[in-house]
Amino acid sequence: MPTWPIICGHCGQHVSADVVSGWPSNNVGSAPAVTLWLKCPNAECEEGSVKLRDGSVYPSAPAGRTVAGLSDDVAGAWREARIAHNVGAYTAAEMMFRKILMYVAVDKAGSKEGESFESYVNDLEANRYLTPGLKDVVDQVRQRGNGATHELPSSDEKDSLQTMAIVEYLLMSLYELPGLIKPATTP
Ligand SMILES: [Zn+2]
Repeated sequence: MPTWPIICGHCGQHVSADVVSGWPSNNVGSAPAVTLWLKCPNAECEEGSVKLRDGSVYPSAPAGRTVAGLSDDVAGAWREARIAHNVGAYTAAEMMFRKILMYVAVDKAGSKEGESFESYVNDLEANRYLTPGLKDVVDQVRQRGNGATHELPSSDEKDSLQTMAIVEYLLMSLYELPGLIKPATTP
């Protein structure tokens, strides 16, 4: 089966997607100019995508990166925030990044849903999930999320990218890196 290189919009992996339909039977060289129906070969994904004649692939890959070890709530919100950023919905993206803070605090620091975002950041800090230097940075996400919700002007790409970098760092340090620890083995 012919393949087409894409960054899968579902799993975020660089893959050689299987061309399920649309491959030109007579002329391989015309593949870039036709619409291709693709299937991701990643066994945990196997979702479909479409390459249009202009070369764009849908769904497009979200900005940022996939973070391993996330709970379902956090993974869903992280993906939604990245997609919002990808389509230029920067204010919506920043609101989602702030929501991720809530999920993380509820998940890791025993916060209750419906509390203030300030208390989420405080709970994360009190439970030693934030280093002293990181607290100010995470607090920035909360404040920027507040700005996106209540104030004008709306967030621009630079704001959203910066907030995404902060949240990505937080998710990596709280979810992905602990998953790399191998269980101790007895000699
Ligand atoms: Zn995939």
